[in-house]
Amino acid sequence: MKVAIVGAGWAGCAAALQAAQDGHQVTLIEAARDPGGRARTLTVTRADGRPLELDNGQHILIGAYAECLRLMRLVGVDPQVALHREPLALTFPDGSGLALPDLAPPWDALTGIARARGWSWREKLALLSRAARWRMLGFRCAPGTTGARLCAGLPPRLADEFIAPLCVSALNTPPETASGQVFLTVLRDSLFAGRGGSHLLLPRVPLGALLPEPALHWLARHGHAVRLGSRVRRLAMHEGRWQVDDEPFDAVLLACTSTEAARLVREADVPALPRAPLQAWASAADPLDFGAIATVYAEQPGASAPLLARAMLALRATATRPAQFVFDRARLGGRRACLHSSSAPLPESATRYQIRCCSRPGNSWACARCSHCKPWWKNAPPSSARPRSRVRRAPSRPDCRPAATTSPVPGPPRWKAPCGTAWRRCRIWRHD
Ligand SMILES: Cc1cc2nc3c(=O)[nH]c(=O)nc-3n(C[C@H](O)[C@H](O)[C@H](O)COP(=O)(O)OP(=O)(O)OC[C@H]3O[C@@H](n4cnc5c(N)ncnc54)[C@H](O)[C@@H]3O)c2cc1C
Repeated sequence: MKVAIVGAGWAGCAAALQAAQDGHQVTLIEAARDPGGRARTLTVTRADGRPLELDNGQHILIGAYAECLRLMRLVGVDPQVALHREPLALTFPDGSGLALPDLAPPWDALTGIARARGWSWREKLALLSRAARWRMLGFRCAPGTTGARLCAGLPPRLADEFIAPLCVSALNTPPETASGQVFLTVLRDSLFAGRGGSHLLLPRVPLGALLPEPALHWLARHGHAVRLGSRVRRLAMHEGRWQVDDEPFDAVLLACTSTEAARLVREADVPALPRAPLQAWASAADPLDFGAIATVYAEQPGASAPLLARAMLALRATATRPAQFVFDRARLGGRRACLHSSSAPLPESATRYQIRCCSRPGNSWACARCSHCKPWWKNAPPSSARPRSRVRRAPSRPDCRPAATTSPVPGPPRWKAPCGTAWRRCRIWRHD
């Protein structure tokens, strides 16, 4: 089947990879110039004019994201290298809070709650009995129940130090507005599913390199079409086939934002299909609301040692401030000790297939062949896990810089030498 997938966020990339694996001919169409959607890497300009690649917001994956990890492996990303993994910990800078040991469930949660610092035995027992009740009810609650309502009656300390941080970190929504059912599902999948399901996985590489860019590269290598910078404007059906901006397909999968999906469905020219269900679907998707998430990056020039006791710490919520998190990029492979209340690492080492750039200003990511760039392991401390890379270094070149134009084709070549040579933009995929 010829399948069009609209949107190359993580959902679109995952759908495209799965459809391709199922033997379909995929065309992935993305409006933006870069893939990844809400979980992507952006190039920003520092005050001194130098470019810097940052993620559009810190993302935390958990061990239960098994399918996501499978797709990473499929496209050549090693999750053990690209992600920092640690047992679930919602601890505060003073050391209080919950930190689970690395045990099989439910022993990890039981031991973690029993050992939680700063909680009284009455609070620990209240949490254990509430968790047992949720489990007995099959992690289901009445439709429309909010996280806050679900947790009503728990001691205030638990609401502040466990429920609110968990809700914000897992659902990006405070308990007052978070869906109780989604909250229960996350608890079930993380704490009660299997060993390691609750582990926190923090990206050591830019989000783009974690899945979207290698996914596009994989699709292109396997003969599928990827179009970046191409917004789908119109859907229609003609003689039993879908028309996506007048190009025929056997099936269309909408993986774009809910507002765009609603617009495309509402305006679709499909006389052969009953109108009412399509309109009903569009009316349900359209009003879905979005909330902003703020990310603050702070850099301490010259610092190289980690500043925080852990890679991620929770900050207490107050009446005017929601729960927040602070991350120490130096613990995630970052070059300088860089903290952010909600954002991601720019690693300099530690990724298996990554080539790092030397100290050349502005080149936080290297082209494979720049004379200034070395394979990362040449600069990194000795490691037993050095890659056997097949990247060959080219003869010295005076400079490297991003290509001025964005290729509509994903992946390489996106860097050009002054001489015009097209170079691969090295991220994390295999150079073979
Ligand atoms: C700051 C921040 C922090 C987050 N933290 C976490 C976290 O810790 N853990 C977690 O699991 N999730 C987190 N999320 C949520 C996560 O990023 C999203 O759930 C996920 O990225 C959504 O992916 P998606 O593919 O469904 O949609 P999107 O990422 O929105 O992708 C949709 C894509 O469709 C494209 N598109 C739209 N219209 C069209 C069109 N007409 N034609 C072609 N393309 C179109 C868009 O450009 C976009 O690229 C966070 C989100 C943000 C913003």
